[in-house]
Amino acid sequence: MTNMNEDEKYIDLHTHTTSSDGSMTPEELIRHAYSKGLAAVAITDHDTIGAVEQAIEEGNKIGIEVIAGVEISVDFSTELHLLGYFLNGGYEPILRMLKVLRKMREQRNSKVVNKLNELGVSISLDEVNSKAAGGIAGRPHIARTLVEKGYVEDMVDAFDKYLGVGKPAYFKKSKLTPREGIAEILRSGGIPAVAHPIYLDMTYEQLDSLLGELVGYGLMGIEAIYAGNTDEQTAQLLELAKKHHLLVTGGSDFHGSYKPDIEIGSGRGSLKVPYSVLTELRRAVQKPWVTGKTHELI
Ligand code: AMP
Ligand code: ZN
Ligand code: FE
Ligand code: FE
Repeated sequence: MTNMNEDEKYIDLHTHTTSSDGSMTPEELIRHAYSKGLAAVAITDHDTIGAVEQAIEEGNKIGIEVIAGVEISVDFSTELHLLGYFLNGGYEPILRMLKVLRKMREQRNSKVVNKLNELGVSISLDEVNSKAAGGIAGRPHIARTLVEKGYVEDMVDAFDKYLGVGKPAYFKKSKLTPREGIAEILRSGGIPAVAHPIYLDMTYEQLDSLLGELVGYGLMGIEAIYAGNTDEQTAQLLELAKKHHLLVTGGSDFHGSYKPDIEIGSGRGSLKVPYSVLTELRRAVQKPWVTGKTHELI
């Protein structure tokens, strides 16, 4: 693997494990990535770095690079998610921040379940949490509980009938502002990047202006390569990355069997994230925990 040309090595910098809303344990995910021939994987669970240590251990064992990451949602008119890479997980402030975010999630889950109960849907928080297998429960776990108990047909139906924006059991989660989210990731030595810009649902001009603002807060990267992009969208995002001097990141947003149409590394079939993306990211962070041994990453 190490002798291969960088251009022939592929990676995936956006994946979810059972610590958030993915179906695979950290070990399973890393072994799966290895079986697909990937050279490196970033674990980017929602609001937690709980899977990172196990994933790194497994990666060291079988010979695949694992990068410590996280994904957080910040307050915005549409879906604005931030990815943080190379976080110093031993740094107290980031752990505290993620704890606060998880608390906000728990509070929201409890509002949603209460509301569902009022609507005659009989599910409990315990049932929802049991779906999270010790990880963090969110709307996907509530949706799966609704499916299992026969209240809805499938996940999409659960969001359409109850959980989606504007639906009867929708509650907004308290979030950090974009400026706060970026600052927190930077404070812990991480590289903050905008995740899946297509979900922002913006025109090129709107995105251009948003990126200008976020760069002002310290944004360093943009996920220009993403499983859901058309080739044209990727081209535009790469252009915007260049214009704003942003690092390019890329990934599939793998969730295992919970999003069966998305495969690790290849996304919907044609995704390719070259290893050089990771090399550029590493170059941007001159921190001891990045250049040092991988087991210090957690
Ligand atoms: P949460 O972080 O708890 O707000 O849940 C967000 C997750 O719910 C997203 O990552 C999606 O996987 C899922 N989700 C959000 N909206 C929908 C939808 N309309 N249909 C299916 N899944 C959705
Ligand atoms: Zn997710
Ligand atoms: Fe996301
Ligand atoms: Fe994601």
